[in-house]
Amino acid sequence: MIETADWKNLTAYGQRRDVDGTLVIGGTRADELARRYGTPLLVVDRDVLDETVHLFTNAAQAARIEVAYAGKALLFTDLARYFARTTFALDVCSLGELHTAERGSFPADRMHLHGCGKTDEELEAALAGRVGVIIVDNLFELERLASMRRGGTCKVVLRVNVGIEAHTHDYVRTAGENTKFGLSEADFAQALALLRRTEGLPLFGIHSHIGSQIFEAAPLLENVDATIGYVARAVRAGFAPQLAIFGGGFGVAERGAEDLDLRALFLEMRRRADAATRELGIGPLRLGVEPGRAMIARAGTSLYRVVATKHFGARRFVVIDGGLADNPRPALYGAFHQPVVASSKAVEPATQATICGRSCENDEMVETHLPRDLACGDLLALTTTGAYTFSMASNYNRFARPAVVWVGGGSHSLAVARETLDDITRRDS
Ligand SMILES: *Cc1c(COP(=O)(O)O)cnc(C)c1O
Repeated sequence: MIETADWKNLTAYGQRRDVDGTLVIGGTRADELARRYGTPLLVVDRDVLDETVHLFTNAAQAARIEVAYAGKALLFTDLARYFARTTFALDVCSLGELHTAERGSFPADRMHLHGCGKTDEELEAALAGRVGVIIVDNLFELERLASMRRGGTCKVVLRVNVGIEAHTHDYVRTAGENTKFGLSEADFAQALALLRRTEGLPLFGIHSHIGSQIFEAAPLLENVDATIGYVARAVRAGFAPQLAIFGGGFGVAERGAEDLDLRALFLEMRRRADAATRELGIGPLRLGVEPGRAMIARAGTSLYRVVATKHFGARRFVVIDGGLADNPRPALYGAFHQPVVASSKAVEPATQATICGRSCENDEMVETHLPRDLACGDLLALTTTGAYTFSMASNYNRFARPAVVWVGGGSHSLAVARETLDDITRRDS
C-alpha cells in the first residue's frame, strides 16, 4: 500500500523557491542541478546536515551521551570525511562501509563494527585494530572471534535482545522474539563465560537497539532500563563494563507526527542510567546512542524527471526516471516521501495522480495530486530521502545508480559520480 500525499504540500513543505517558482535546494536551483548532474539525483544539503549535527551535539552533550552515526543509512567517502570532523563515532556493518570510512580518513578508534552475520574478514578487521569496538551479535560470532584471535585484541560490546517491541513496522523492528538480532538471556550468560576464559577480548560494554522510526520515548526508555539490567548482570559476574549503547531508531516525522524531544529524552536516559548504577554501587557509565535516519534523512532530496504520463480510466500515472532501484523504501515498507513539484509550474489546477518509477515492477512511489499540465521533462522531487535510499539502491533492470551531490550555501559539488554503462558491466566476464 503506498501512501497518499497532502497535495497542498506540493509547493509549500518548507521549500525555497526562486522568483519563477523553481525549487531551490541548498541555494541552488533544481533545474541547474538536474542539468549539471543528471537525474535521478540524490541532493544532500550540507546546511541541513550541519543543523542536525548541531542539534544532536547539543542534546547529547547536555546528558553526556556519545553519538555514533549509523553509516548504513547513507555513507560515501566524503560523508565519512564530514563525520570525521565531528566528535561522533561511526557504526559500520560491512567491509564496504569500513573501507569507505577508511578512505574518508575516519579514525579507527572511533569506529564500531556491527552486523548480525559477520564474515571472517570482518572479524579479522576488528582483531587487526581497524575499529575501536566490535559489537558482538551472537555466540557463534564470539566463538569464532575467540578462536581467530592469535594475539589480536578488540574491545567487545555484547548486543542483547531485550525483548522490547517498538511500535514500528515489522521490517524495521530489531528486538523481541520475532527478530534475529542480539543475544538472548541464556546466550548472554554463555557469552560472559566465554569472555571470562578468553584473553584479549575485554568486555567493554552492552548494546541494545530495538528498531527504527520510533516516535515515542517510552520504548526507548524501557530499553535503557533493560540494557542497564544486562550491565548489572555483567557486574555481578565480575566484569566492569564501561559503556551502554541504546541504539538508534529516532523517528523522522513526515506529516503530522511530532519529532522526539531529543534533549529531554537523552537527559532522561542519563538520569535512569545513573540511578541504576548508583544502586549497583558502580560509577556512572559512558552512554551511547546511534542515530542513522534522524541524522541524515532530512538532508536528502531526490530529483527526478518526468518521462511519461498516462491515463487509464480514473487513474493517472506519472512515470519518473527513477523508482524502485534508487529508492526501494515505498515498495519495501510503504515509506512515505512528500513529493514536490520542482519545476516552475502553477500547481493548480491539479488532478489525482500516482507517481511511479520506471522499473519492470509496479513501483508506485506515492499517491498525490499533480498539476494537470505536468509533462515530460518537468522535474519532481521526493523529500526526506537521505536515509536508506541511496544505501539500499540496486542495479535492478541494470539501471545506473544515481549520482550524489552536495549542496549548501549556494554552491554544489559532486560527492558520488553516477554509475556509467562501463560500471554496470565492469565485473562481467
Ligand atoms: C540501523 C541501526 C541503527 C540506526 O537506526 P536508525 O533508525 O537509522 O536511527 C542504530 N543501531 C543499530 C545497531 C542499527 O542496526
